[in-house]
Amino acid sequence: MIREKYINRDYYIRASSGGYALPMNIQRDLLTVNIFSRPGKKLSGVKALVVHWTGNPRTTAKQNRDYFESIKMQSLNDASARYASAHFIVGISGEVIQCLPSDELAYHVGAKSYTPEALGCLGTYPNNCTVGIELCHREADGRFSTETLLAAKELCALLCVQFGLSPVKDIWRHFDITGKDCPKWFVNHPEEFESFKDIVIVAMDRLRK
Ligand SMILES: [Zn+2]
Repeated sequence: MIREKYINRDYYIRASSGGYALPMNIQRDLLTVNIFSRPGKKLSGVKALVVHWTGNPRTTAKQNRDYFESIKMQSLNDASARYASAHFIVGISGEVIQCLPSDELAYHVGAKSYTPEALGCLGTYPNNCTVGIELCHREADGRFSTETLLAAKELCALLCVQFGLSPVKDIWRHFDITGKDCPKWFVNHPEEFESFKDIVIVAMDRLRK
């Protein structure tokens, strides 16, 4: 179980429209529009959140954000060029960086083939309808810090409220969509992924009050 270290209701800005804006401590550090990491296309809608691990132990949210920015320098003629990005990156200390507006397409879950569950719920190109969240980690085994999980929980709760999503069915691991070993800790410890979704539900209830 994840211990609640703090509950800070001032963490949120309640939008004047009655909806919810982003947590105040999300650092908006958007990528430059470029074909490799921010193509500037609109999502068809948001049907799900997808959680990932960075796979790079001890790297910060900022370093991972800067990596996504750096790949814009790749050559258009490079057949091995990488396309990669995510909307949000949650750091080891619980810091959160937003790399793309949450209504724009990111390259976080593309693959040659998808699981039947993903095809059924998210269609033939899940990047088109999902928000990607990268989680940083200290260890090679992918274990997440308490700070990372707390911030990720708050972020997921906010996005679930914003997009009308249900944590139990609408928060996916990358693994559930493509079979990739990501996020490794939640693939190896599925019960902890279930616990994570449960605490998102609790956080959502608190947001609505
Ligand atoms: Zn992933």
